[in-house]
Amino acid sequence: MTKLAMLGGTPAVPRDIRQVPWPIITEEDRKAVVTVLDGGQLVSNAENETAVRDLERRFAERTGVAHCVGVSNGTTALSLALAALGIGPGDEVIVPSLSFIASALAPLHQMAVPVFADVDPVTFNLDPADVERRITGRTRAILVVHLHGLPADMDALGDLARRHDLAILEDAAQAHGALYRGKPVGSLGDVAAFSLQVTKNLPTCGEGGLLTTDDPALAEKVRMGRQFGEVIESGRPRDYISYFLGWNSKLNPIQAAFAASQLDRFDDYARHRQDNVTRFLDRLRELPGIAVPGAPEHATHAWHILRFRFDPAALGLPEVAPTALRDALRRVLRAEGVPMSQYQLVPLPEQKVFTDRIGFGSGYPWAAAEGTAGPDERFPVARAIIDDSLTLQKRHLHPDSGPLLQRYADAFEKVWQHRDVLAAVAGRAS
Ligand SMILES: *Cc1c(COP(=O)(O)O)cnc(C)c1O
Repeated sequence: MTKLAMLGGTPAVPRDIRQVPWPIITEEDRKAVVTVLDGGQLVSNAENETAVRDLERRFAERTGVAHCVGVSNGTTALSLALAALGIGPGDEVIVPSLSFIASALAPLHQMAVPVFADVDPVTFNLDPADVERRITGRTRAILVVHLHGLPADMDALGDLARRHDLAILEDAAQAHGALYRGKPVGSLGDVAAFSLQVTKNLPTCGEGGLLTTDDPALAEKVRMGRQFGEVIESGRPRDYISYFLGWNSKLNPIQAAFAASQLDRFDDYARHRQDNVTRFLDRLRELPGIAVPGAPEHATHAWHILRFRFDPAALGLPEVAPTALRDALRRVLRAEGVPMSQYQLVPLPEQKVFTDRIGFGSGYPWAAAEGTAGPDERFPVARAIIDDSLTLQKRHLHPDSGPLLQRYADAFEKVWQHRDVLAAVAGRAS
């Protein structure tokens, strides 16, 4: 048995292969950026601007929707979508209790109340049965996150939305390119928000976002919303009239051009990622006590984040608490060169912004929808997932990460041979 790196052995992952860049920046990407700089159309409402429009057209086409609108980031995309859906004070929006914070802040920014629902223990996405329990007379929309790149249960959620007359906003920030029953995410609800933030699967050189929808009226509202509530039409002079409360949330043409250049290689990268991740997960699946992420038959996974749940009893360590095992695994695997980390330290409803309910002051927006689910609600599945899982982020996005992921698998196999040490490390920590 080889010695654990934590005890002075050689790490399973050699140091010189650990750093894998993301995003990959090529000569084409540089050229795309310089072309915009030299073209002089540096804001998207300029008359002859083309970079944002080209990206919007291409992304709409590949998503299979009629409209795409470029905006400044994914968080803004969520807010603009809710505004376009007419969601405001007194309304409730159901959001998952496990997601990135932006998913739950967006309703608040509209002065609507985020009502949290628990998630599924295997897919980490909204549990439709729990969503149904949280629907009230004030519920207007379900904000569906395709967490880590796996499409949510859209059959059941779509059915709920139809029966209760709710809008569906997809948060597809982690799931570009994923399919559900052969249809791309971003085409599965009323409107969808994507992020182009630099760590996402379709990155720009900084921040950016895209909205997709088939509904021309929603698309027009979002276009107005990103530009102060004005109507911007090509060939018509800007009249500077705000028709409703808008923002300045336009996508910058440089970021659009960079993202469009990345889009040229997106499918190729996604194919390599699929291969690399599959071969990695196939090896981990052989080890006892790890629940490895996967996709049901009718969906594909974009593999934005890889989340693993660990079961102490199945690992032969029934006396070890899940959080203690998680922390021990993080330490021991990190020593081997596997950068395991937590993604979300608490369920979203336990974040201070929601427990303290400061919001806009005077108790708003909660005061506008009194009697809603309180901050003391429990979300046992989200809590259990956070307690017993760790994630891998970013490095596996690179199309050449195959060999690195194989070394990660070596590290897991090695650590699994030293379960006595794991138990000791976990015992010391608890
Ligand atoms: C990244 C992310 C967002 C926010 O996107 P930004 O472009 O960073 O504002 C929203 N939701 C989820 C699930 C995300 O991962």
